[in-house]
Amino acid sequence: MITVFRDAWIVTQNDRREILRGDLAIDGERILSVGGRYGDAADEEIDCSGDILIPGLINTHTHVAMSVMKGVVDDLEFPDFLDKVFRIDADRTDADLALGTKIGCMEMMRSATTTFVDLYYSEDVIARAAQEAGLRGICCWCCLDEDKTTQKGNPVRNCKEFHRRFKGERKVVPGVGLQGVYVCNEETCVQAKEFSDEAGAPLTFHLSETVGEVNAHKKRYGLRPAEWLSHIGVLGPRDIAAHSSWVTMNEVRLMAEAGMSVSSCPVSNMKLATGGVCPVPEYEKAGVNVSLGTDGNTTNNTLDMIAEMKVLGLLQKHSRWDPTVALAQDLLDIVTRNGAKAVGMEGLLGSLEPGKYADVVVIDGGMPNVRPLVRENIVANLAYSLSQADVKTVMCQGDVVLRDREHTTLDPEEILPQAEDAWRSLCLR
Ligand SMILES: [Zn+2]
Repeated sequence: MITVFRDAWIVTQNDRREILRGDLAIDGERILSVGGRYGDAADEEIDCSGDILIPGLINTHTHVAMSVMKGVVDDLEFPDFLDKVFRIDADRTDADLALGTKIGCMEMMRSATTTFVDLYYSEDVIARAAQEAGLRGICCWCCLDEDKTTQKGNPVRNCKEFHRRFKGERKVVPGVGLQGVYVCNEETCVQAKEFSDEAGAPLTFHLSETVGEVNAHKKRYGLRPAEWLSHIGVLGPRDIAAHSSWVTMNEVRLMAEAGMSVSSCPVSNMKLATGGVCPVPEYEKAGVNVSLGTDGNTTNNTLDMIAEMKVLGLLQKHSRWDPTVALAQDLLDIVTRNGAKAVGMEGLLGSLEPGKYADVVVIDGGMPNVRPLVRENIVANLAYSLSQADVKTVMCQGDVVLRDREHTTLDPEEILPQAEDAWRSLCLR
């Protein structure tokens, strides 16, 4: 099956960051050709004259199933926030998780995201719902100490069992998660890391989100969280550390030596007023791969990577009194190429190049907020002027999941009316 996107601006995000004008052809689930005129017969043609094609964005930190819990834990101190979330979480059913995942996936595809890294329990339910939505889930089963979880059984064993069942499933990458050093002792962390090594699976965890968490860890172990994780051998090239805001330069160096990635979550940090700003320029200079996450819908309260990208740039510039950091091209790299590297799929995702998976987003070039539109300002328009309202059509691994702003995989009329009942039953007790 050959699909051709005709006559678009193509923001390739290849090594030379070429912006081309022409056709993008897809064969099945992979990109066949980029730029120029595709002259051979096509099964489907999508007219994109004046529109912009970008690679699907990669959200490297979220808890997608929490999308059914919007607006229930806002404006609270961090410990009160956690208490309330954990209380609601304990009552959730598989149906709530599947519903939350579908709502979150619909929101993500409408805001140009085709791949997300999820950290939660019951990833089997989340993976199935994401498959139904047609998005790619890097589904990281959350491990924590057995005496601190509401999961049935041992979390590390549950994670391994999930991996066994979902390995090789289309658009699902089963991964390993750790909630964070505040509920994961050395044994849990090391077991998770060993399994990530054995399975070649991504390992993701919350790291140094709040200063309180850092101070408590230092008091208990004599080391800051990233120092301690390095000391016990948990840092490595498959790791994605979310937040990573309260770190020292020594920790930045250790994380760079490990070859790992961070997922900055600026909106979540600002909304919870956690104070620390992820030191993006220092990470990049040291060689840590910086990617971006929205975090969950209880802390953000959207999964909109377009908005998040702009906020990342604004926060970096504003907090450092320096408009020359976090440039438009850096921001676009962070949500595409760097995200692909973070999930270990840089050979398959993150740019529009022949042979890569066809994760393609069509941005409506007819919208006034992206005009004027010339080759010279496309990247700036994408970083600073774009809105999710501009997302027209989305393809993930060759499947069209949104066509002319209409969902093709999920039925909003069936799914969305269930949202309010689920919210009331979970959040109003
Ligand atoms: Zn999180």
